[in-house]
Amino acid sequence: MSIEKKYQKIKDSLPKDVTLVAVSKTKPIEDIEKLYAIGVRDFGENKVQELTEKAKQLPKDIRWHMIGHLQSNKVKYIANFVHLIHSADRQSLIKEINKRGEQEKRIIEVLIQVKIADEDSKFGMNFQKAEDWLRKLGNYPFVHPVGMMGMATNTDDDEKIQNEFAELRLFFEAQQKKYPQLKILSMGMSSDYEIALQEKANMLRVGSKIFGERNYDE
Ligand SMILES: *Cc1c(COP(=O)(O)O)cnc(C)c1O
Repeated sequence: MSIEKKYQKIKDSLPKDVTLVAVSKTKPIEDIEKLYAIGVRDFGENKVQELTEKAKQLPKDIRWHMIGHLQSNKVKYIANFVHLIHSADRQSLIKEINKRGEQEKRIIEVLIQVKIADEDSKFGMNFQKAEDWLRKLGNYPFVHPVGMMGMATNTDDDEKIQNEFAELRLFFEAQQKKYPQLKILSMGMSSDYEIALQEKANMLRVGSKIFGERNYDE
């Protein structure tokens, strides 16, 4: 099946208010162009260098999502164009995003990455830190948190995945009552997006199920 058909098949299965981010990391420009041609505008990358190189070569109306762990010293390379940073996972990074946003005179939208998996390799704040940060929002006028992102444990145990997503959903909904600007719940990738949908994710980050398996990762 072509990349376009695979994308369309997933897209058609989703409720209308769910955003499907096509995760194009490690994949060539031509693959992105194929989806662009059928109207896709939301693409996700996890490395700053790859993201900036692709953005340079592709149409300016693409909405680039930075989904990977972000080093503070690299924020400056994406600050003037990135659409949404999904991986705001620590105070020092948020401070840096605010600084670069101020320099660019641009408010940068972010998702708070919350750690729900029980794997050391996954990044994210715990619920307490996320809450603390939301309370201190006024200090960072150039960073706008518009939602939360979480990654479930990489396991075949669907129930475990669902429990992790559910935990984040409940936290998200509770915070949303206090901070109505929180609108996006980014959960679910190729292997678990159907479970994420059950837990009311409204942004999915799907790579290999659209573009095919990657030869290398991270
Ligand atoms: C790579 C990646 C994805 C997509 O993974 P697939 O399994 O290929 O769908 C989603 N989210 C993040 C943060 C990623 O790094």
